[in-house]
Amino acid sequence: MTSLRLLLVLVLLQFAGLLAWQDYKDYKVFELKPQDANQLELLRRLAREQPHWDILGTRRSYNESGLRVLVAPNQVNSLLKQLKTHHIEHQLLWNDMSLLLRQQRAENELSKSRSALPFIDVLGGFYTHAEINEYLKSLPQRYPQRALLKQFGRSYEGRALKLLTINNGDGRPNKPVILIDATMHAREWIAPSFALYIIQQLLDHNVEHADLLQDYDWVIMPVVNADGYEFTHTDSRYWRKTRKPTWDPENIGTDLNRNFGYEWGHDEGSSADPAEEIYRGEHAFDQPESQVVRDVLLHYSDRLDFYLSLHSYGNYLLLPWGHTSAFPSNYFDMMEVADAGAMAIVQATNGIYSYGSGYHLMYPTSGDSTDYAVGVANATVAITMELPAGGFLGFDPWVSHIEGIVTESWVGVRAMALEVIRRYQTRS
Ligand SMILES: [Zn+2]
Repeated sequence: MTSLRLLLVLVLLQFAGLLAWQDYKDYKVFELKPQDANQLELLRRLAREQPHWDILGTRRSYNESGLRVLVAPNQVNSLLKQLKTHHIEHQLLWNDMSLLLRQQRAENELSKSRSALPFIDVLGGFYTHAEINEYLKSLPQRYPQRALLKQFGRSYEGRALKLLTINNGDGRPNKPVILIDATMHAREWIAPSFALYIIQQLLDHNVEHADLLQDYDWVIMPVVNADGYEFTHTDSRYWRKTRKPTWDPENIGTDLNRNFGYEWGHDEGSSADPAEEIYRGEHAFDQPESQVVRDVLLHYSDRLDFYLSLHSYGNYLLLPWGHTSAFPSNYFDMMEVADAGAMAIVQATNGIYSYGSGYHLMYPTSGDSTDYAVGVANATVAITMELPAGGFLGFDPWVSHIEGIVTESWVGVRAMALEVIRRYQTRS
């Protein structure tokens, strides 16, 4: 983009009053290089004690790369002191996050300005919750026989939570269901983009994908954490949780993916402290958004063959259980579905996914949605898909990277869906 265009977009943003935005001026990014499992554990403990350090990355073992910390300017000295005391290798990667974010914001606004609602160019920008709803609302008019839009509830701040049912128009009721949700975590912007891409594939390219729709209905909810997602567009790009206040006036928001009511509340895999990013809420389902996902799961529970929850990042296909090292009874069937997805992706793009139980592959989670889907809502297969990293911190791909990520991911989701259909369609 020319600097003149960039300047113009910035001026427009300013007029639009959008610079209530936390600009991350002088926020720094360090790459941390723990040398052994003890140092990794120590970093995790320090991060828990220092809520101002946002340690990002999903790395589980010390010999994988990619552990980064985003730190406010007034916290830099204390971080460096701790790293020095504990002899943890580190490197300054980025001196001022505001420059990167400003550039990304301008790129997105300029790119989106080329298409007019209700039409959206999924590959050309990251859309807000309101823009996505506008687009979803237009679909039943464009595809009256094949698209049905429902609302199951509202977010804490009153945003309508919509889900779209897609079928092939043959009028056969009560087909088994493939249910996909996205954006439980607000900052994971590639997740709603991918959900929208799936919708467009199934609606606009329905002939090509007739095999996916012949015996199954697809139900897709692109934005679960609508308030948090909106907040990442208007205020703070790296917000993860919801926006409902907690009992602690200092801290807002709950991690929706620790708020589901199956084996909820374990300290291994969630936190009772609202300062933490994995705060689980005061009670299971005390967030309106997790209630909506619960209601949708239960609504389809007698025909739910595949539940897929889209997150980023890390290239993982995470199966239940998250809360225990044990395995669900059909774990190896689920593994074969994940295997089909991972193999299709590696063949298509050489992209590498790891797959297995969340507890073993990543870290324990208590109260997550896939555990609930299998433990309570009777889902045959449930998978959390951690899409590839992008941008500088993993959650922030450039607009120019959307196409590569979503087209690759679609290869995997299509293959997993076909494997589910192959294994279970005879029941319909
Ligand atoms: Zn997530």
